[in-house]
Amino acid sequence: MDLIVARNREDLVKARAGGEVALVPTMGALHEGHRSLIRQARVRANHVVVSIFVNPLQFTPNEDFSRYPRTFDADLDVCREEGVDVVFHPAVEDMYAPDRQVSVSAGEMGRIVEGAFRPGHFDGVLTVVLKLFNLVQPDLAFFGQKDAQQLAVIRRMVTDLNLPIEIVGVPTVREPDGLALSSRNRFLSAQDRKVALALSRALRAGAAELTPAGIHATARAVLDAAGPELEVDYLTLVEPATFAEVTESYAGPAVLAVAATIGGTRLIDNVILTLTPS
Ligand code: AMP
Repeated sequence: MDLIVARNREDLVKARAGGEVALVPTMGALHEGHRSLIRQARVRANHVVVSIFVNPLQFTPNEDFSRYPRTFDADLDVCREEGVDVVFHPAVEDMYAPDRQVSVSAGEMGRIVEGAFRPGHFDGVLTVVLKLFNLVQPDLAFFGQKDAQQLAVIRRMVTDLNLPIEIVGVPTVREPDGLALSSRNRFLSAQDRKVALALSRALRAGAAELTPAGIHATARAVLDAAGPELEVDYLTLVEPATFAEVTESYAGPAVLAVAATIGGTRLIDNVILTLTPS
């Protein structure tokens, strides 16, 4: 079957097939990370919808909305190669009426960690994701662990608003040298890219430690050694579901998350680790 490009709800309804429907929301500029989500979706559902929408609501005013990479034709090729059934590619004006009033709030979870540096970002994410859920009406939706706090707030929305959708988290896809794939990596110069490797290196080194204090100190030392080109926003060890900072006595799964800017490009990365009682 040929790939269908849907622009609105009517197109989506026409393209809808029976069986399980999976949604993979993206902002386009598709890479191996997105391919991994699509492949997982293919395994779980017989009808896979990929949305490609650069969502203005999740960019803060000083961020790169207009500069964000848009590679729609190449994205369609990726979707064809991966056996996607439908690409949903709405226009901004069709998603957001000028007189719209109602939106979703991520609550306190949207104001901590990444949210502290990007006010309104997670509200914008949840608003578009809920709209995509309503438009596509999927049984399952796939999100990357790369955006761990996004995954956590989406799971929270599904719980708090009783959405009948299974959320599937997919492990982060990395370059062989450890750099997490991101649509923004293309903005890194060769030198920036070398500096950016400190993020995954710091997470790996931290994850080899046993206590929160040891994890912090080891990861921080690797970040500091990268020099002043690496401007760190945060390095934090949090509980995966709430993004609350773990205490020294915490036992269980934790996310070690980092955000930093290199040569004007802001990157985030994280690893999941397990803390055992000492
Ligand atoms: P984006 O297009 O950057 O908004 O990402 C769309 C989806 O792909 C989100 O669920 C991301 O978490 C996921 N994603 C982005 N980068 C990666 C990666 N390197 N590995 C796995 N998933 C990713």
